[in-house]
Amino acid sequence: MSATPIPAAPPVPERPMPAPTRESKPYWDGLREGRFMLQHCAACGKVRHYPRPVCPHCFSMESSFKEAPQGGTVHTWTVCHHPFNFFFKQQAPYIVALVDMDAGVRVNAPLRGMAEKDLKIGQRVKLAFEPVDADVTLPFFTAA
Ligand SMILES: [Zn+2]
Repeated sequence: MSATPIPAAPPVPERPMPAPTRESKPYWDGLREGRFMLQHCAACGKVRHYPRPVCPHCFSMESSFKEAPQGGTVHTWTVCHHPFNFFFKQQAPYIVALVDMDAGVRVNAPLRGMAEKDLKIGQRVKLAFEPVDADVTLPFFTAA
């Protein structure tokens, strides 16, 4: 009778990474510099996030980026127990928050350094920055 070989652990998949576009490059460049850059319509002045080519309010294709404050309030959150991508399985469970930024846009990103039992809707949080490689820095939220 021979022993059954133990199967090798499946490889951990690569971390999914953003692919900056012409419209989103200033946003990603800002994160790398520790700045929260938001797209403003050149025609009607309204702010929008995520970056995209056309203003959803007036359909203008002209825009510029301006630095925005990094604070906001928790709109809601979820605790991810079963990540959509197996790369994140090692971090589960983790919190992803939807935050109403002071600049007037809503952003979702991981929330770190806080326990779910301590979270409240309307709680103040701030943006933080995780350098992943030389080009990409990802946002996350932490206690304000
Ligand atoms: Zn507009």
